[in-house]
Amino acid sequence: MSRYWSDIVSRLTPYTPGEQPALVHPVKLNANENPYPPSPRVADAIRDELGATGDALRRYPDSSARALREAVAAHHGIRVEQVFAGNGSDEVLALVFQALLKHDYPILFPDITYSFYPTYARLYDVAYRTVALDEAFALHLDDYRSPNGGVLFPNPNAPTGQPLPLAAIERFVAANTESVVVIDEAYVDFGAESAVRLIDRYPHLLVVQTASKARSLAGMRIGFAFGDPALIDALNRVKDSFNSYPLDRLAQVAARAAYEDDAWFRDTCAKVMATRTRLAAELTALGFDVVPSAANFVFARHRTQDAAVLAANLKEQEIFVRHFNVPRIDQHLRISIGTDAECDVLLGALREMLEDE
Ligand code: PMP
Repeated sequence: MSRYWSDIVSRLTPYTPGEQPALVHPVKLNANENPYPPSPRVADAIRDELGATGDALRRYPDSSARALREAVAAHHGIRVEQVFAGNGSDEVLALVFQALLKHDYPILFPDITYSFYPTYARLYDVAYRTVALDEAFALHLDDYRSPNGGVLFPNPNAPTGQPLPLAAIERFVAANTESVVVIDEAYVDFGAESAVRLIDRYPHLLVVQTASKARSLAGMRIGFAFGDPALIDALNRVKDSFNSYPLDRLAQVAARAAYEDDAWFRDTCAKVMATRTRLAAELTALGFDVVPSAANFVFARHRTQDAAVLAANLKEQEIFVRHFNVPRIDQHLRISIGTDAECDVLLGALREMLEDE
């Protein structure tokens, strides 16, 4: 606290990112990063852009990231005017809060969800109301059928990993026409159905995606929104009132290369999903209840052991998982899917801990 702070700063509750330990070989399963590298074409594209001297860096990047947006539009079979690109989907979501979600009615999102949503709502002074997931952490869109300034949820949800069928989403979007429905598809490529194919039919549907997860580019910060050109226009108006160049030259060429290598993308997603199936089965055998996941993480609760103690004991062995000390989920651990070898280290450590009991 300082007398120099703007008033709103003291009232903020900033988001806490997963710890990035300064260790050489941590087993890092706490930030839903991809355990596999990006397509080899990504490093080639960055080298090409840099050239021998990095001369291209003298120039500002394309403020509209047109070539990248074209590649991503081609991937999804949509038009480039339906694509917005930003500096990670966190930034895209921040622009969405300002551009599309500030109205008279409060916006609605789940009580258990991505914890950045309430943070943005407070930062941008957007009124919100949370809607409880059921006891099994399922999200029921019928519970969102009330006047609202917008509806926002991840599919699959985070940190639970549960997906919603596209038919249920479409039924809701077709009924909720007075405000924008924002679907945060950060994890959609690991087993859920994308709503991108609905954007032509619903001018109030906005789908947000990221290159951080399924394309292994969390370190470069690239995110997207897909929707009607009028919604994209709103995002551009806020972007160009804040930072016209959210994506640097290297990020633009890197992400483009990643979206052009579909085979790599599908192969690494398949590997993550296969490891998820095995990890979930082995955790269940160790006494965990595992929420069925369509994401690159599982959300699990041990039937007898305290989650915070388990997380702390794992951390002592340089194995990092995510524990949220918040109501309803303080006995759960969110465990990102690592390589098979990383998951084996985790399972071995858990087995030893649980046998000691
Ligand atoms: N949405 C959800 C649900 C997430 O879990 C994350 C990652 N923490 C993001 C958005 C943001 O991802 P990024 O900014 O890396 O695109």
